[in-house]
Amino acid sequence: MTDSYEEIRDAVRALCATFPPEYHRKVDEDRAYPEAFVDALTEAGWLAALIPEEFGGSGLGLTEASVIMEEINRAGGNSGACHGQMYNMGTLLRHGSEAQKLKYLPKIASGELRLQSMGVTEPTTGTDTTKIKTTAVKKGDRYVVNGQKVWISRVQHSDLMILLARTTPLTEVKKKSHGMSIFIVDLKDAIGNGMDVKPIPNMVNHETNELFFDNLEIPEENLIGEEGMGFKYILDGLNAERTLIAAECIGDGYWFIDKVSDYVKERTVFGRPIGQNQGVQFPIAEAHIEVEAANLMRFEACRLFDAKQPCGAQANMAKYLAAKASWEAANACLQFHGGFGFANEYDVERKFRETRLYQVAPISTNLILSYVAEHVLGLPRSF
Ligand SMILES: Cc1cc2nc3c(=O)[nH]c(=O)nc-3n(C[C@H](O)[C@H](O)[C@H](O)COP(=O)(O)OP(=O)(O)OC[C@H]3O[C@@H](n4cnc5c(N)ncnc54)[C@H](O)[C@@H]3O)c2cc1C
Repeated sequence: MTDSYEEIRDAVRALCATFPPEYHRKVDEDRAYPEAFVDALTEAGWLAALIPEEFGGSGLGLTEASVIMEEINRAGGNSGACHGQMYNMGTLLRHGSEAQKLKYLPKIASGELRLQSMGVTEPTTGTDTTKIKTTAVKKGDRYVVNGQKVWISRVQHSDLMILLARTTPLTEVKKKSHGMSIFIVDLKDAIGNGMDVKPIPNMVNHETNELFFDNLEIPEENLIGEEGMGFKYILDGLNAERTLIAAECIGDGYWFIDKVSDYVKERTVFGRPIGQNQGVQFPIAEAHIEVEAANLMRFEACRLFDAKQPCGAQANMAKYLAAKASWEAANACLQFHGGFGFANEYDVERKFRETRLYQVAPISTNLILSYVAEHVLGLPRSF
C-alpha cells in the first residue's frame, strides 16, 4: 500500500520542487507565512482533497489526503501552515446544515475562503477541555461570547474559525462533555468587534495566538449542529487530524533520514566517511525502522477511516509512533551533521524544531498513552 498513490506523489513533489529549501528557510527566518506556497497548493486543489465533489472538492479519501501532507513535509516544507484547511472543514461537512455547507464548502474548496483555525484550548484548563470557561450565551438571534483561548493557530491567515464554547454551565449538565457548542466565526467581522488577537512568538515559525472575547456576537445561524453537542463534534474530527499529522511526521522522518544518509556518505573524518562507523549507522538505521513501522500504522488508520470503520486506536497509535519516529530521525540527523546541523543553511535545525512540536500538539503523547490504556486495554480511567 505504501508504494501506491504515485500519481499524487509525483504531482505534489513537482509543485513542492518549485519552492526550494531557500524559500522555506527565508519564510522561517522572517517568521513569515508561506503565502505563495499555500496559494499554489490551494490553486492546484490539493487542500480541498477531502471536500466532496458536489461541493467543489476532489472527494478523495483520507489515505490520499495523508499522502499530500506527507509529500509536503518530505519535500522540506511544513504542512503546519495549512493542514487546518484540509481537516477543519470535516466538522462542517459532518455536522453542518445543508445551508451552511452550500454557503461555505464551495468557497473553501476554491480557496476563496480559508477555514484554517479551530479554537479549543484555553489557558487555565489545558487538555481538560470539558472545563473550558469561554461561554456563549443566547440573546435573541445571537450568541454572545466571553472568555479566552490560547494557541489558536493561523487566525491571521484564515477567514473562518470553528470555536468551541460552553452554552450550558458545567454545573447544569448531566455529563461534563455535554453543554458545549461549536460555531463558525467570521474572523473579519469578529476581530476588533468583540475578539482580540495577540500573537504568541514561539520556537517554530507557527502562526499561533491568544484570543480574547469580550461580548463577541455570533449570529445564531452560525451554530454548527445541535446546541450542547459541540464537544462530540470536535472529537469526531480528531481521528482525521491525528492521522494526517502522523503522515506529516512520516514525511519529516524520511526527509531527515535521506538528508543524514547523504551527509554521512560524504563527510570524511579520520580518513573515512563517518557513515562507515556503526556508531553512526545504527541510530540512522533504527530511526528508519521506526519510521517504516509508524508508516504501516498510518496506512492502517487511513484504511479503516476510509472504510468508515472505528479507527480511534489506530489514529492515535499512528500519531504516537510517527511523532516519536520523526523525532528519533531528527536527533540522528542533527547529531551526525555535527556543528553543521546547527547552521540554518542545512535546514536541519528548522525541521528539528518543527517536528518536535508534534509530541505536544495537537495532542501530547501522554494523552495518547492514556487513551490506549483506557479505551484499548480497558484500564481504569485516570482522570
Ligand atoms: C504551536 C501550537 C499550536 C497549537 N494550535 C492549536 C490550535 O490551533 N487550536 C487549539 O485549540 N489548540 C492548539 N494548540 C494547543 C495544543 O493542542 C495544546 O498545547 C496541547 O493539547 C497540550 O495542552 P496544554 O498545552 O494545555 O498542556 P497541559 O494540558 O497543561 O499539559 C501539559 C503536559 O502535561 C502532561 N499531562 C497533562 N495531563 C496529563 C495526564 N492526565 N496524564 C499524563 N500527562 C498529562 C502532558 O504531557 C502535557 O504535555 C497548539 C499548541 C501549540 C504549541
